[in-house]
Amino acid sequence: MHQDEFVASLLLDYRLGTIAYFPDKTEGWITGYANSDPVVDGSTVQMQFQLANGLPHSVRIPLASLTKEGSLPPLKNPDLLDQVEDLSLLSYLHEPAVLYGLRNRFTAKQIYTYSGMVLIAMNPFEKLDMYSSDVMKEFSGKKRDEVVPHVYGIAEECYRAMLDGKNQSVVISGESGAGKTQSTRYIMQYLALADSLGKNGNLGSSSTEDAVLASNPILEAFGNAKTTRNDNSSRFGKFIQLFFSDPLLGNVRITGAQVKTYLLERSRLISQPDTERNYHIFYQLCAGAPLAEKEELGLGSWESYHYLRQGNAGVMPKVDDVEEFKITQEAFSTLGVKVSVQWSIFKLCAALLHIGNIIISDSGGAASISESDSSLMKACELLGLSSKDFVKWITKKQTIIGRETYLKDVKVESAVIARDSVAKVIYTKLFDYLVQIINKNLSMESDPFHHPFIGVLDIYGFEHFPTNSFEQFCINYANEKLQQEFNAHVFRFEQEDYVKEAIQWTQISFSDNLPCIQLIEGRGGILSLLDEETRLQSGTDATFVQKLNSVGSGNQCYAKARFGTTQFVVKHYAVDVTYNSTGFLEKNVDSVSDELKGVLGASTNLFLKEVLGEDAKEVVVGRKVTSMMRAPTLGTMFKASLLDLMVTMRATECHYIRCIKPNASKKPFEFDGPMVLSQLRACGVLETIKISNAGYPNKLTYTQFAARYCILVHSQYWDHADKKELTQMIVESVLTDPRKYQFGKTKVFFKMGQVAFFEERRKDR
Ligand code: ATP
Ligand code: MG
Repeated sequence: MHQDEFVASLLLDYRLGTIAYFPDKTEGWITGYANSDPVVDGSTVQMQFQLANGLPHSVRIPLASLTKEGSLPPLKNPDLLDQVEDLSLLSYLHEPAVLYGLRNRFTAKQIYTYSGMVLIAMNPFEKLDMYSSDVMKEFSGKKRDEVVPHVYGIAEECYRAMLDGKNQSVVISGESGAGKTQSTRYIMQYLALADSLGKNGNLGSSSTEDAVLASNPILEAFGNAKTTRNDNSSRFGKFIQLFFSDPLLGNVRITGAQVKTYLLERSRLISQPDTERNYHIFYQLCAGAPLAEKEELGLGSWESYHYLRQGNAGVMPKVDDVEEFKITQEAFSTLGVKVSVQWSIFKLCAALLHIGNIIISDSGGAASISESDSSLMKACELLGLSSKDFVKWITKKQTIIGRETYLKDVKVESAVIARDSVAKVIYTKLFDYLVQIINKNLSMESDPFHHPFIGVLDIYGFEHFPTNSFEQFCINYANEKLQQEFNAHVFRFEQEDYVKEAIQWTQISFSDNLPCIQLIEGRGGILSLLDEETRLQSGTDATFVQKLNSVGSGNQCYAKARFGTTQFVVKHYAVDVTYNSTGFLEKNVDSVSDELKGVLGASTNLFLKEVLGEDAKEVVVGRKVTSMMRAPTLGTMFKASLLDLMVTMRATECHYIRCIKPNASKKPFEFDGPMVLSQLRACGVLETIKISNAGYPNKLTYTQFAARYCILVHSQYWDHADKKELTQMIVESVLTDPRKYQFGKTKVFFKMGQVAFFEERRKDR
């Protein structure tokens, strides 16, 4: 095509009456109406628009840059596509169109929308009448295109494919408060009833299925807390696999489940920011324990505990902790955990609260604890510890010089850290132990893992705060890994489809995020440097960054921070994040001294010993061993668990749900455009769109196409039996540029923008 023709055809797209999108600070993007035809004036093109907010807007583009991507305002799709259920059917697939589509549907209370293989779920922040067994029935046995977009649709898709013997996984991501845990719950509820949904008669779940569902309230009581972003925020990642009975034998039931958790937030146990709480269980226990147990455990109200009152938010409106405590206890019982074991668990929780109240004072520059401190006495009584040894190793430190060992006093701050780390270690071990008992009780049927499974991953989305620490680093690392799988999956899927449909296609490559992953987990990468520094006596958070700066300079995803000696920047796929390394070294190891481990190991509380497991065996008082040096670091363990997760997921068919938090103030059905946009970027939805735009973003089967557009040709052809021929006839009568479409075996493929022509014609009929 000549340059002039090309310009003319481009300008035709922007003639009078065209609607395009323009960036807007408050809305993200707004529409603008072309109130004249474009005018070529010398070497520039001028266009005049009337924006949706009433303001006029003129655009001037040099002719020379017209072909550059992004120089022309993105076009709006035909109105008929305003509420489209699958964004990949949009003729123009770009950021503003995605945002517009989601906003339109959300305003009409449609919270679910597909974007190709991804289900986008907008949090309505309002109880909706769309989750019940009656609604579930509507999805049973239905294919995706026969029903509206819904989380039940994904569950059903997984269930059907599982019946064919293929393992499935669902990755649910999104920022805090976006609705991941809620979506996980709906999927599990659906799967527990899936078999009976398609049959007449009562819906019923088996005791195994009830036990599987009971794992949720337990994990939530111990692993969720109120934060500023979410009143029930999960402070850990979770992958739950549901195993089913042999589909060939009929009557398919859940036969067992396994839970894996990732990175419980440890610091929450000892401190919480203003308006936030510690883990729910502590408030439940203080409010709900019967009098006799309160007495035995020495429990008062939540305000009496340092570990619970720092956020000043012990009572939550609309949450009755007494009732919640009952739910937790019932869940334990449903799962088969005896009441006596339950109280052993609660006893440890109570002991931790007493540990937090132990008063450490300054005595001539050294830390000291009164031997008659009532919190100390109670904590040690409940934990079965020698209070003398406990006090000694909280307030003193052992150093070895040559063959001699010396005892040294420590300062108050160090003693407080030591006290708190004992509490943190016990709680993390307790959490791991709960996961173990859940898993033990959920694998009650013989060989339950032999059969197909559906796994659901409820994992924190990309995080990027004013200050980002080790936790954000690990979370974002996990998201990089998931994004890599996701891109590869989407990309492979697209290209496989082209090959299967035998259209002409040169394989293309896309820039993936491998360099960033290598920067983090590769040889000499951030994690291995961190481990190296952690093990060095002289290592500090600042020397770690120093080394990173010299090693990382060769990596395109690394940048030195502009300020400070403890900051570094990683260029993630979503956005550049500046990490503050303060605390990285300490957080990377389990920081209880060997002597304190010895004190715990000597406990007379058998339950505590069971919970501590291997750690309790390190009875080494008086001899400095180097268990801290040997123990794998948190970073290394996290890396290994992620690799393990990726291996499991790669052997499954993956489904993706991206949860979006539509506004920061949790208001029902309020849509904050810029906030939604930044999440769409962070969760990779826009990235995927780029991938599909490189190929043929719109594809329809011949049957689908012919049914919708046959009215564009003479009625004598409407019933033409060969839908491919009919499609060819319609397409060739409308599109003049054969590079914009291809006919495959069962589908027609279109380049971006082509479907709009058919929609326009259809509208005119
Ligand atoms: P976090 O990362 O903090 O754990 P999350 O993504 O798991 O966050 P949820 O706890 O699932 O978020 O959801 C937060 C809150 O949003 C819920 O407690 C509920 O009030 C509301 N919510 C989420 N999904 C829905 C839904 N589908 N319908 C109604 N309300 C919802
Ligand atoms: Mg959650």
